[in-house]
Amino acid sequence: MNATTKVKLKDITPNLSCPLCKGYFVDATTIIECLHSFCKSCIVTHLEGSEYCPVCDVQLHSSKPLSSIRSDQMLQEVVYKLVPGLFQNEMERRRKFYKEHPNSIPTTQ
Ligand SMILES: [Zn+2]
Ligand SMILES: [Zn+2]
Repeated sequence: MNATTKVKLKDITPNLSCPLCKGYFVDATTIIECLHSFCKSCIVTHLEGSEYCPVCDVQLHSSKPLSSIRSDQMLQEVVYKLVPGLFQNEMERRRKFYKEHPNSIPTTQ
């Protein structure tokens, strides 16, 4: 029955997971210095207290660490493509959030 050469989700999950929250990337964001990737909210929160990459400790821009990160659309698309339902789940989560908090922006819980 498994004649297809489909990648097994568990084999690629480590490459699609955020080292900070251990979940799949949400708004994947990459540090341009070392190319490590995180959820946007995870790395932004981390950089409020540190200017170092949480994985390899490379130092980011010391006064403006946020200028060393870029949102990674390609990576996020891969996550959505390879993780069925994730996109829908995330959109659903946001819809709910905005419904309950019409005046706020999404935050990490
Ligand atoms: Zn994360
Ligand atoms: Zn790094």
